[in-house]
Amino acid sequence: MSGEFDLISRIAARVSPRSDVVLGIGDDGAILRPPAGHELVIVTDTLNSGVHFPESTAAHDVGWKALAVNLSDLAAMGAIPAWCTLALSLPAPDDAWLDACIDGFLALAAQHGITLVGGDTTRGQLSLTVTACGFVAAGGALRRDAAKFDDDIWISGTLGDAALALQEVLQGKPCSDELRSRLDRPTPRCALGHALVGIARACIDVSDGVLQDLGHVCVASGVGVEVLLDALPASDALAAQVENAPRWRLQSSGDDYELCFTADPLQRDALVALSNSLGVRLTRIGRVVAGDGVHALDADGNEVRLQASGYEHFV
Ligand code: ADP
Ligand code: MG
Repeated sequence: MSGEFDLISRIAARVSPRSDVVLGIGDDGAILRPPAGHELVIVTDTLNSGVHFPESTAAHDVGWKALAVNLSDLAAMGAIPAWCTLALSLPAPDDAWLDACIDGFLALAAQHGITLVGGDTTRGQLSLTVTACGFVAAGGALRRDAAKFDDDIWISGTLGDAALALQEVLQGKPCSDELRSRLDRPTPRCALGHALVGIARACIDVSDGVLQDLGHVCVASGVGVEVLLDALPASDALAAQVENAPRWRLQSSGDDYELCFTADPLQRDALVALSNSLGVRLTRIGRVVAGDGVHALDADGNEVRLQASGYEHFV
């Protein structure tokens, strides 16, 4: 069993360096050197056990997901990941659990070239708060307030697998490894987010459900949106198991960490080319309209009200 400083040393010993880190873990603060001509984007997200992940989640996946949700926010801003901190609250010092958690965290960090530069380690209910920083060329960030009338609305990847996996876990049903990994190890779309700078207008990552998240774009941009429910992309696993209304509900309930963005219809060819070059599915799911609010439409163009179409704390 380790004390606080042994735990910190276990983490610090495994961190990969970056040349723009003047001073990393070990002092009261990190010293970092942002590149000239760029703006710093900073995001933070907490994962609480039993709220943001089932208590049965493997330690490796807890570490992965804590970083993934933050990388997804950086991706949604079009930022290239650089540095992060990890504030960790643990019920008891457990070397094996911590090592596995840091394995997952650092495996994803290595994929995206982001490095850990500090944090905090305390005793309490299991909780991880990551703060992550990235860069965008000055003025280039993808913002929620940039959608324009008649823009197309696009989504990356597929929607609904994480919600289906969570439903199966909560109901005690068997869940395939493939589906469970979509809940436990989301894929942040960092390369896509960065490549969308200069192509997309507004962008948001789908953490709380695509309809709810698009609602934030509507408010920030002063527009409305129409979403074609039949166009929401589903994995083969989801399409085979769940039809229409129940599927749409799963597809708009969150934890997908895909990017939803708007773009001028003149960008369609550029986006098809980008989808091919990155190997990331991009699907057009609707358009920006005058007025306000999110209007979900069925195949006949009738508006559909989905119950519980997004995640909210405190309700
Ligand atoms: P202080 O008491 O000055 O806040 P700490 O003792 O909490 O410092 O932390 C010592 C050093 O270890 C700091 O550089 C801090 O950023 C780093 N650190 C603490 N916990 C973590 C963690 N979970 N992950 C990464 N770095 C950490
Ligand atoms: Mg101090």
